[in-house]
Amino acid sequence: MSKITQSFGVNVFNDVVMRERLPKSIYVKLRKTIDEGVALDAEVAEVVANAMKDWAIEKGATHFTHWFQPMNGRTAGKLESFISPKKEGTAITEFSGKELIKGEPDASSFPNGGLRTTFEARGYTVWDCTSYAFLVEDEGGAVLYIPTAFCSYTGDALDKKTPLLRSMEAVSKEALRVLRLLGNGVSSRVIPMVGAEQEYFLIDKEIFKRRKDLIYAGRTLIGAKPPKGQELEDHYFGSINEKVAAFMKEIDEELWKVGVSARTKHKEVAPNQYEIAPVFTNANVAADHNQIIMETLLKVANRHGLVCLLHEKPFKGVNGSGKHVNFSLMTNDGINLFDPGKTPHDNLQFLLFLAAVIKGVDEYQDLIRISASNPGNDHRLGANEAPPAIVSIFLGEQLTEILEQIEKGEIISSRGREKLETGVITLPVLKKDTTDRNRTSPFAFTGNKFEFRMVPSSASISDAVTVLNTILADKLGEFADRLQNSKDVIKEAKNIIRETVKEHKRIIFNGDGYSKEWIEEAERRGLLNLKSSVDAIKYLISKKNMDLFERHKVLNKNEIFSRYEVMLEGYIKQLLIEARTMVEIFVKDIVPSVSRYMKDLAKASFELKNMGFNAEVQLDLLRTIDELFKRANNQCDALKKLISQAESFEEDSYNKACFIKDNIFTQMETLRELIDDLEKILDRNYWPMPTYGEIMFN
Ligand code: ADP
Ligand code: MG
Repeated sequence: MSKITQSFGVNVFNDVVMRERLPKSIYVKLRKTIDEGVALDAEVAEVVANAMKDWAIEKGATHFTHWFQPMNGRTAGKLESFISPKKEGTAITEFSGKELIKGEPDASSFPNGGLRTTFEARGYTVWDCTSYAFLVEDEGGAVLYIPTAFCSYTGDALDKKTPLLRSMEAVSKEALRVLRLLGNGVSSRVIPMVGAEQEYFLIDKEIFKRRKDLIYAGRTLIGAKPPKGQELEDHYFGSINEKVAAFMKEIDEELWKVGVSARTKHKEVAPNQYEIAPVFTNANVAADHNQIIMETLLKVANRHGLVCLLHEKPFKGVNGSGKHVNFSLMTNDGINLFDPGKTPHDNLQFLLFLAAVIKGVDEYQDLIRISASNPGNDHRLGANEAPPAIVSIFLGEQLTEILEQIEKGEIISSRGREKLETGVITLPVLKKDTTDRNRTSPFAFTGNKFEFRMVPSSASISDAVTVLNTILADKLGEFADRLQNSKDVIKEAKNIIRETVKEHKRIIFNGDGYSKEWIEEAERRGLLNLKSSVDAIKYLISKKNMDLFERHKVLNKNEIFSRYEVMLEGYIKQLLIEARTMVEIFVKDIVPSVSRYMKDLAKASFELKNMGFNAEVQLDLLRTIDELFKRANNQCDALKKLISQAESFEEDSYNKACFIKDNIFTQMETLRELIDDLEKILDRNYWPMPTYGEIMFN
């Protein structure tokens, strides 16, 4: 075995370890739960817990934690030691099946959107055995991480994972119905597969410490454009400097140990921007792994004197960061349902699944947009090198042409083969990568998968994948109903595909998504353009969307309302933090600095005049600064007023969020421009924080 393969997964309680350490009968039962969703019995849990504990302790673990993903999109967990004290003053190690299966964190201390109040705080974490437990080793020792779902006493989901798991069930069920009707009697599960590419920035820790905006808000709130940005296009795929390379090496090693198959790494478009991507895997595991990747990036950066910024738009004027969620549906026996395939029959099946995507994405553009919403992404979508806030699908020329022909009812012949009666199943054999890549599309077909590129870099991928699963479950269910009720399945499938193209082709767009023309064109097509996350969030509680989630038992009404509240609260809190930070920076750092500079300039001009010079340059500069300074100060006062208005705002969260978006968000932009203008003319030695140039090109 090579060094890499030897270290890969060493800290994972994976299938190999389970087979080694569990009695055969227990192993078989656990596998049934993992692979087929069969309920887990208490005896199995007890034995697994014991084996897990022994394994972890042998590897040096002292604690375990129920690791979960609350609605704030991060991860959480309380550390508990394996120690159990005895009367005689000694101790043994203990870990029961009950402790493995269930934990009880206080639910009211996590975002819950009103589902839990402090006096009825009970919440549960429940073991998700479909994602392997793993060991995290760092300065704090070794801890056994047990992936769990988090729900309230009443069973309502309080996390990102529970709805994801439910949506995986839903899409599997409906996709299987379609497969059965098309004659597949073998596959027993359909699994959404996800590979999430993660973009991030790295900056020097000492510089970070001197930027309050980065510390409090995760992004720069001010900063004049440096003389050089990304215009030379010299960063993308460029060579990686040694310091960063050392960081990346350690990232890979850490990730491999916990079974995250980090595969590619490269420089991204902006200075100091990078990307890491693992190999795709089951959606829920991919979501867990993406969380691990983010946490590892933050932790390891710190060890290297660096800070990793996961924010969607840390710097104005340069590329933002996103997460490209590569998505496909795969059967348990390895058939990728988004693979165009080699035979006409596969093509029909493929086209039906493609139709489900087209119809689902068009009908639920709003949900797709919401699933990629957070306050940070409001600065990214539609800005420099990011997909616009409009949802559309890129299919490429070949597929689009085929769909156009199907719509017209033309019989398509496959190259050199004779025509068959049904027309559709005689499609040419499709090839992967027959079209160019389109980097500007928010939702692009890339050969045998879709790449959803709107997802925010700092967010969990669970929301996005949950929505994709649910809308696909819905459309596939609809198609299955129709196929079931028709006498000629092939003909009906063909009808479905044709109708879908006719009714939903407006969502397909192969052109330049970054162009102005597209925004106008999209409006003509009646596509939504929800520019701000607040605009998007309100669609979450529309009847259409609530019905969808309820129909597939992914989220009930209470859960949807709680998520709606959590999103709005998150927006409100984040923006108020940003606004207060901006005021603090202006009042405490910029005002004193500018005043000092003005005083020195005044002194200099005074002295120069005394010496007989006219000191015009100094006086002109002084006047310009004075004017800008006054205006900035007025705008800062206006911002302060708006903050106190917002803080005492009595109306519901939605209106409060709208007030903040329409007033504070815009006011911050106004103030920023003035501050940036000041920065441009101030003596560098007086500016109280590192500039963009110093942050990016250090
Ligand atoms: P690019 O940067 O060209 O988009 P990468 O190779 O960096 O591509 O990332 C592609 C991602 O898509 C990887 O995580 C890869 O594992 C994943 N992927 C590949 N095939 C599939 C598939 N069938 N389903 C889901 N994800 C996939
Ligand atoms: Mg990509």
